[in-house]
Amino acid sequence: MNAPLQSPENSAASPALTLLIAAPRGFCAGVDRAIEIVERALDRYGAPVYVRHEIVHNKFVVDGLKEKGAIFVEELDEVPDGAPVVFSAHGVPKAVPAEAERRGLDYLDATCPLVSKVHRQAERQIEADRHIIFIGHRGHPEVIGTMGQVPKGMMTLVETVNDVTALSFTLEEPLAFLTQTTLSVDDTAEIVQALQTKYPQIVGPKAEDICYATSNRQAAVKQIAPGSDLILVIGARNSSNSVRLVEVAEKCGTDARLIQRASDIDPAWLDGVGTLGLTAGASAPEQLIREVVDKIAEWRIVEEHTLVTAEEKMVFKLPRQLTD
Ligand code: SF4
Repeated sequence: MNAPLQSPENSAASPALTLLIAAPRGFCAGVDRAIEIVERALDRYGAPVYVRHEIVHNKFVVDGLKEKGAIFVEELDEVPDGAPVVFSAHGVPKAVPAEAERRGLDYLDATCPLVSKVHRQAERQIEADRHIIFIGHRGHPEVIGTMGQVPKGMMTLVETVNDVTALSFTLEEPLAFLTQTTLSVDDTAEIVQALQTKYPQIVGPKAEDICYATSNRQAAVKQIAPGSDLILVIGARNSSNSVRLVEVAEKCGTDARLIQRASDIDPAWLDGVGTLGLTAGASAPEQLIREVVDKIAEWRIVEEHTLVTAEEKMVFKLPRQLTD
């Protein structure tokens, strides 16, 4: 147990607050690697370095890299000839590196290796002449990137069990399924079950493609949720794994709010809250957790506990261009 935090303003009237901090939380190996790729590219090439899409879905991280000289764009046509460009951790359709090569751009791929693994599985299923059912969220950059690994029309996106019900493939058609890496473990299991019941011939990955970081963070929330009156999740609205953490808490029957940082917290949310859970999505830095703890300690006497449900030791190698 950590020492209670107290500041002059929080004494007397306000009751003490137990803060249950989930572990693991925050940065995963793929996010660490993506940020390091941009930082090393800035060291190696000098500013500006272009980054296609937010390198990870966190404004604090993106703003920090902008200050160091990164320029964020949505498409390669915004990158001047000859400038270095980094592709985000979410992955890109095959057409993007092809276009970069055609234009002679010096590009670095920060796609998380666990997303790249799904890309390779997609290629293998197409080589085996199977149509792929991809479980994911429409419009998310990872989904756009993975669907862009295979010829048009060879992958069908499903988001819900109802989408599976609406599929019209026959029992004779060779099918495979793959999943986005940052989905809800429980919702995905239901969708996979529906697919396997409807299409017994469907093949899938040995273990689902939901990544270790997503699974661990959801499992950690399940541990803190039953004892918490409210859970705060630090993460961006467009961060899939952060939004899933809010849903997981709510499914456990605990109110949860997604915040970008401490300034988003309305002190009224803490009225009647004796135990507050706290976690962060895979793209939110630890600094934001400390900022939230310090902010809450301005209002309440905080007794801080960390609940560790898994140890993470994953580290991914950097691209060779940055280590040679
Ligand atoms: Fe990779 Fe998972 Fe992190 Fe996404 S959340 S960057 S898939 S480790």
